[in-house]
Amino acid sequence: MKVNREFSVPYGCALRCGLDFDPESSVETVFTSSSSVRPEVLFPLFAPVTSLPGVGPRMATLIGKLGGTNVVDLLWQLPRDLIDRSMAPSIAEAPKGRIATLSLIVDSHMPGHGKRPYRVRCADDSGFVTLIFFHPRKDYLQRSLPEGQKRIVSGVIEEWNGEFQITHPDYILAEEDAEQMPRFEPVYGLTAGLTLKTLGKAIRESISRAPALAEWQDAAYIARQGWPGWQDAVKALHTPQGYKDIEPMAPARCRLAYDELLANQLALGLVRQKMKKLPGREIAGDGRLKSRVQAALPFKMTGSQETALAEIFADMASDARMLRLLQGDVGSGKTVVALFAMLNAVEAGGQAVLMAPTEILARQHFATIKPLAASAGLNIAILTGREKGRARAAVLEDLANGTAPIAVGTHALFQDDVAFQNLMLAVIDEQHRFGVHQRLTLAAKGRAVDTLVMTATPIPRTLLLTSFGDMEASQLTEKPAGRKPVDTRTLPLSRIEDVIAGVDRALKTGAKVYWVCPLVEESEVSDLADAEARYADLKNRFGDTVELVHGRMKGKEKDAAMARFAGGPANVLVATTVIEVGVDVPAATIMVIEHAERFGLAQLHQLRGRIGRGERASSCLLLYAPPLTETARARLSILRESDDGFRIAEEDLKLRGGGEILGTRQSGFPEFRLADLAVHQDLLEAARDDTKLILSRDPELADTRGQALRVLLYLFERDSAVANLRSG
Ligand code: ADP
Ligand code: MG
Repeated sequence: MKVNREFSVPYGCALRCGLDFDPESSVETVFTSSSSVRPEVLFPLFAPVTSLPGVGPRMATLIGKLGGTNVVDLLWQLPRDLIDRSMAPSIAEAPKGRIATLSLIVDSHMPGHGKRPYRVRCADDSGFVTLIFFHPRKDYLQRSLPEGQKRIVSGVIEEWNGEFQITHPDYILAEEDAEQMPRFEPVYGLTAGLTLKTLGKAIRESISRAPALAEWQDAAYIARQGWPGWQDAVKALHTPQGYKDIEPMAPARCRLAYDELLANQLALGLVRQKMKKLPGREIAGDGRLKSRVQAALPFKMTGSQETALAEIFADMASDARMLRLLQGDVGSGKTVVALFAMLNAVEAGGQAVLMAPTEILARQHFATIKPLAASAGLNIAILTGREKGRARAAVLEDLANGTAPIAVGTHALFQDDVAFQNLMLAVIDEQHRFGVHQRLTLAAKGRAVDTLVMTATPIPRTLLLTSFGDMEASQLTEKPAGRKPVDTRTLPLSRIEDVIAGVDRALKTGAKVYWVCPLVEESEVSDLADAEARYADLKNRFGDTVELVHGRMKGKEKDAAMARFAGGPANVLVATTVIEVGVDVPAATIMVIEHAERFGLAQLHQLRGRIGRGERASSCLLLYAPPLTETARARLSILRESDDGFRIAEEDLKLRGGGEILGTRQSGFPEFRLADLAVHQDLLEAARDDTKLILSRDPELADTRGQALRVLLYLFERDSAVANLRSG
């Protein structure tokens, strides 16, 4: 069974809430009735690779492994290296183990027999070299290497028993055909079964399909940068004339990277422009509820909580629709900020909802908010999948007639029969768990609902830009007073007995312990087996004080287990990653994570954020299975050194950086084929500015450049972004 991992990739998932504004999602059905049609000029590029000569289904499958099924996907393959055939020494001077191109006279053929290969002896003034062929096609060799004739031969020079030889030369050409051999040949990433020769040929074919397209870039900008036009850039990318040409800063590569980034920014900009056009309401509370809750708070707000609230109130007060991101590291106090934003809506005579991605979190938010809201005399409702029958009907009624001004819940709040009297604000916690469609459904439940998205994930600026475009964001940078740093250590799994003994000692002093079990990607069943085995093991050791929670438990069981841990008799909570986001048990001071090397950096940071919330010093023990890969080692040591979520996020990005595609994909960052954010950051910023300018001058992409930009959007498969235009 494929796992729907609960919170498995918080970092990335938070980023994925970018999808909410991501034009690639199927927003158009909800947003607009216009559909978009790819322009005909791009048809050849969006034909399947099998439309290329020499590419059959088998090869298409192999190309698919490199990413992509269409001709255009071949264009985006980047040369990773070069074969340089420019060295043309004499045989005697030819360096061994390197590629050289020799001018030879064919001397004699020595057909092999049995296991002996076919050999062709050749010569120049300086000596002899033997060309070696296993499983030869004899007639072909006789034709292409006629005795006594001159031939240009290129391949790796080897030495065998004191003789020079080339096994299976790459090129054998008559002198007059010599220019058929490129001086520099691009080398691409390959996959088993796919040779450079066949892939290279397919890519050359794909280049010949690249149409001439009207320039979408600003002519002056292109000229200033010294960049080629699109078609020339594609050609140049694949016909490098030296190592400089395959670097990320090469003009052709920069041009194409910029195209890609502009498509990304423009697509985000269009969706945003559309959102912004939706009417909002001026929501300004009078402070009567806020002041009462403020008085009931057992702490003082941090400076960044105050700032974030000021920003949120300003957005709500404007007549434009709010769409703001609230970023704050774990434990930075987002929930209180959300509550005050909701109170603001209630003061203005409206209702607000807070949606959490899971039952546990919804219940926890509810537990936090309920007593505070009660201090202002407010009745708040909870609605999750578990409210059924009469209980549910009662909640629905309270929401519909306005008796409940605030509702906390899960996606159950999206259901069709949920109606509000006057919904003004939706706060979405860890919104990645909700789809675009759902959010829009919710927006449809009120007139002009303002939206605040909360994420516990510090997102590096660069990624913020690529995922959200120019979205407004408030950041909680300060930690609430009194937080103690967590002592973080790494230990090999072989020391688990020591860890258990340490846990034993800590339990005797009244500590509470999280024990997080490894995650096995392929199988939910075996994750569970791991957690259950550890649970049994620890229960054996510590008795009934051990609890287990995992993603497949029923809601009620989960809550019961959590409650026994949070406030009750249980002191050890064995868990899969369900505890990762948001869970707040201040008495918990120890976090043990098994197979920490299998977790992402941000995820480990999230987990660790569950402790260090109370008075007592906390420790986090990261158990790993040696040997660690270089990256895993680096990850664990960053975690030991730093507790700053933003720094950890930046480091994570660096570690994943250039080319760790798998990591990138899992983490949900937007993927770029041509742009490399580690080096093209400036281009991203330029694309953002360019987008602003374009949309302010020609918001419907209607003029000549606008039309060309539409083609750009299709070229980079932002089709549905175009649907946001009046005449898509
Ligand atoms: P987040 O949702 O950002 O991870 P929470 O909102 O759950 O963080 O807050 C974590 C804990 O800190 C909660 O127990 C909350 O009551 C407390 N808290 C929030 N703001 C402050 C503050 N300004 N000072 C002290 N404690 C705070
Ligand atoms: Mg508003």
